[in-house]
Amino acid sequence: MDSEPLFPALAAPGPAPALTFGDRALTYAGLASAAGTLASRLTAAGATRVAVWATPTLETAVAVVAALRAGVPAVPLNPKSGAAELGHIVADSEPSLVLAGAGDELPEALAGLGRVDVVAEVADAGASGSADTGASGPADAGDALAPSSPALIVYTSGTTGPPKGAVLSRRAISSTLDALEDAWQWTDADVLVHGLPLFHVHGLILGILGPLRRGGSVRHLGRFSTEGVARELATGGTMLFGVPTMYHRIAEALPDEPELVKALSGARLLVSGSAALPVHDHERIASATGRRVVERYGMTETLMNTSVRADGEPRAGTVGVPLPGVELRLVDEAEAEIPGDAGPEAVGEIQVRGPNLFTSYLNRPDATEAAFAPGGWFRTGDMAVRDADGYVRIVGRKATDLIKSGGYKIGAGEIENALLEHPGVREAAVTGEPDPDLGERVVAWIAPADPALPPTLDALAAHVAARLAPHKRPRVLHLVDALPRNDMGKILKRALGKG
Ligand code: ATP
Ligand code: MG
Repeated sequence: MDSEPLFPALAAPGPAPALTFGDRALTYAGLASAAGTLASRLTAAGATRVAVWATPTLETAVAVVAALRAGVPAVPLNPKSGAAELGHIVADSEPSLVLAGAGDELPEALAGLGRVDVVAEVADAGASGSADTGASGPADAGDALAPSSPALIVYTSGTTGPPKGAVLSRRAISSTLDALEDAWQWTDADVLVHGLPLFHVHGLILGILGPLRRGGSVRHLGRFSTEGVARELATGGTMLFGVPTMYHRIAEALPDEPELVKALSGARLLVSGSAALPVHDHERIASATGRRVVERYGMTETLMNTSVRADGEPRAGTVGVPLPGVELRLVDEAEAEIPGDAGPEAVGEIQVRGPNLFTSYLNRPDATEAAFAPGGWFRTGDMAVRDADGYVRIVGRKATDLIKSGGYKIGAGEIENALLEHPGVREAAVTGEPDPDLGERVVAWIAPADPALPPTLDALAAHVAARLAPHKRPRVLHLVDALPRNDMGKILKRALGKG
């Protein structure tokens, strides 16, 4: 494949809105100017790899676009990471500079790096056609690079262990965004409402680079709120991207917020990803708004693999079908392919292949090698079954969510979904623990809806046994105030003693 521009709309930028963060905004012309100027500075500084202090701001978006235009690989950093994690990422990725907003205070872990302050609002006069748009010169260096060149190094969420740096090529990014264009019928008329952090694939690649590649726009909420979602969708927003914890908050708020109901009812597309969307929340949103949230499944290493299509049949509890260009198979424990018609009980590990895949884990040739099966198939570590028509249903992660009990392989996900339908349950996680008779027994971790009146183990076991096979009922109950989650709202099962 020949090199091609990542952002065609920046080649001849006009006055159309590109990025809005609260009361601060850039048109395409303004973005081309700001990112072009910064790209020239990076080139002049001889930067070979840069870190980006990825606050949820206009500066972060400009910094990443600038690095991509300059062809300098960028490493987004989570400003909420602790010193140890930041120290690890900086030592691992060895950036020469850190890009940050002028007012940002950087922690000690970044003290050894040169700093470049990002100025977002330069010469937005470009909108009138007079400014230097940065559309030529060093700003184009990135687009001249081979599609296999590293563009971003994104660290995994650290749900199952220390984060690993995934090297993502320009082609991986463009191919995943183009597959989503097809699946979601995403156009330059779309206005994305965005409330996610900007240091992971979801918030940064899908949420910022996606709209910019399409020539559409983003309105970032700064901080997620149901009021912000209602306001932005009611005033021109067409799509919403969120993680399940956001849709949970939406589901909880709907009965009391008629504006939210109205805004969601009118949205073109509601998308959830990064973790499983509980069926209970999906159904509550559907019955209040008439809209079914579309789920997609991806990873830092693979970008996006599957999605329910905008023109397809939405179905609760599934992540849809493989995206265009992505090959997906389920394999058994011997890594033999499970036939597509094996039925909804045939659980296997998802393996994927395609232009969307990462190049390698940074500095981890061992981990990179271990991640691939013969034939170039990436081992996702996620377990799934397939509906008769190919819709993929994730049952959980191989390492933490598959419970081997009494000769059965039980996915934690369906038990969690069943528990969440119990009125006494606010949050639910399921793990396995060793059991002398069963091999492993099912353990439920519950944050009760009313802490003064928590559900009993017997009640929950009966509730699950009435919905699923009886062997899936929990045998042990732990009551907690709240489940431990990371900043994407993913449940940290290793903090529950698993994984
Ligand atoms: P680490 O790899 O560091 O342990 P992580 O796997 O959570 O962390 P990410 O790459 O951000 O890091 O997340 C990818 C994982 O998120 C997938 O492997 C899958 O387990 C989960 N996931 C993403 N989307 C979905 C979804 N729609 N349904 C269920 N799980 C999902
Ligand atoms: Mg992972």
